[in-house]
Amino acid sequence: MEATVANRVRKSLTADCSACFGLCCTALNIIASSDFAMDKPAGTPCTYLQEDFKCHIHKDLRKSGFKGCTVYDCLGAGQKVSQDTFKGYSWRENPTDAKQMFEVFPVMEQLYEMIAFISEALTYEISKDLRMELTGQLEHLQSLIELDARNLVSLNMAACRLPVNEVLLKTSEVVRSNLSRNVFSIRMGRQYRGMDLIGRSLKGKDLRTADFRGALLIKADLRGTDLRGADFIGADLRDANLCGANLTTSMFLTQMQINSASGNNKTLLPSYIQRPSHWF
Ligand code: SF4
Repeated sequence: MEATVANRVRKSLTADCSACFGLCCTALNIIASSDFAMDKPAGTPCTYLQEDFKCHIHKDLRKSGFKGCTVYDCLGAGQKVSQDTFKGYSWRENPTDAKQMFEVFPVMEQLYEMIAFISEALTYEISKDLRMELTGQLEHLQSLIELDARNLVSLNMAACRLPVNEVLLKTSEVVRSNLSRNVFSIRMGRQYRGMDLIGRSLKGKDLRTADFRGALLIKADLRGTDLRGADFIGADLRDANLCGANLTTSMFLTQMQINSASGNNKTLLPSYIQRPSHWF
């Protein structure tokens, strides 16, 4: 698959809440925290979800203690389940399908996330063999999202994730190594994979091509850091301070990660990420 086609696939992964039956506000299990002001069990509509599937406190989510709702991004999984898998019939119209619809949503969400990462991986300069491997995975995932509800809930997600994780890891190593050697002329960035960096100060550091896969960066001070070519897949960036950081060529960064962090007008972001409206 050509990089431009992959780019188009990635850009198409955009949530359209107007075509969704409020699935993130209903299907998910949410435990009360500073991100969400109350417990909400899976399969139970949030008390603020209106009959028309809009949020009653949409304009005041942050000041009402629901900032997690402003961060969340299903990448379009919600409208896919609502309009395709369940053919435009909501759980209100078809209560007998509700349970299954709520079970399908988190499955679709994971498939969409994997599609986003694979399509990003295909935008990099990589070998023909790696491109073929990624394309194969993308086609497989694209076929899975078309399954019916019964088959979707039967999927073994761990088994789906394994080959995807492997090929993404391979891509990350290749791309970061090329960037280090041929673009930045530096040694490959440090390994922070899976590390607990909660509240840690990394301020001003040169973190180009570092590996932050699965790292806990909650409230980390990343002000003024150079994070070009750094891999952020699965990293937790909640309340990390990204003011003045350069993330222009960071890898596998998601809109949700950026929405959950803080930054300013000096934070440099990849072109496919939007600057959150709550940043100053
Ligand atoms: S507060 Fe609004 S956006 Fe958040 S879960 Fe409830 S209805 Fe949905």
